[in-house]
Amino acid sequence: MARTGEIARIDLRGLRTILLVSCVLFWGFSGQAMARSRAIATSGWSLFKATHFNIYYRPGIDKAFIYKMKRYAESYYRKIVQDLGLIRANYWVWDERCDIYIYANKEDYLDHVKTQEWSEGAAAVGQREIHCYYLADDEHLFATVLPHEMTHLLFYEARQGKPVPHCIDEGVAMREEKDRKRVYVSQYVVAKAFSENKYIPLERLFDWNSQYMKMDKDTANLFYAESCLFIDFLLTRFPKNYFSTFCWRMKTGNDFYKAFRLSYPRYTAYGKIDMDKLNKEFIDYMMETNYYWNAFKKQVGY
Ligand SMILES: [Zn+2]
Repeated sequence: MARTGEIARIDLRGLRTILLVSCVLFWGFSGQAMARSRAIATSGWSLFKATHFNIYYRPGIDKAFIYKMKRYAESYYRKIVQDLGLIRANYWVWDERCDIYIYANKEDYLDHVKTQEWSEGAAAVGQREIHCYYLADDEHLFATVLPHEMTHLLFYEARQGKPVPHCIDEGVAMREEKDRKRVYVSQYVVAKAFSENKYIPLERLFDWNSQYMKMDKDTANLFYAESCLFIDFLLTRFPKNYFSTFCWRMKTGNDFYKAFRLSYPRYTAYGKIDMDKLNKEFIDYMMETNYYWNAFKKQVGY
């Protein structure tokens, strides 16, 4: 069941309480203050320091896995900052490194992170932490979980924790998963939905924070697919600095809607977002860029 904003208050090794955002599929953010609480418990952990990351891992985990984590994490850090144009992001260096916790296995992870059973990774946004667990078959972790959670952290910091609609937060994180894989999957989902005369207008997408609990599985899939493509639309149809300026405007005090209007002024009408124009141009973008579109059009004969 698609749910978001599920915030688990957990006690991590008895030292502090953190707000934890569980993601990978359908989880939102907590909106807590930016101050980091870094009273890290080091017992029970080995530490490998990389340029931008402290990688805490359970003793016994294969060193090759840790090196791989380091390579992927450093590479995603550069790529995500560049993709989103986050030139104003705080640097994750020295005492400001991001902490990655790798638990021994899923059981160990769930014991300490106290999240939903299906969760594969989580980002504690105010603390700049990523929590995940060792997997012998690690492709999913490195291609999906790691860039997704890291994007939540970077996007959160770029806007100083300013609340955004759930579709925006998850859309950014999904769009940054490896090799644009989620974009392609989303294109398929949206093209199929269109062929069945289904489309969630953006005003509903933006407003869905309080209603997501009621979504059935198909609607949830469409919701997340459109969210991912909407961010791709913003990042590919406009100069990159539009998105970073949008983040910066939130960081400097504007709410989501005002920051959006100021950053994408072509969608402003009478002091509001011109939703008709935004929906139309979003759909145009999907038609023009979606590999699956024509196949589904033929299928329904239009
Ligand atoms: Zn997420």
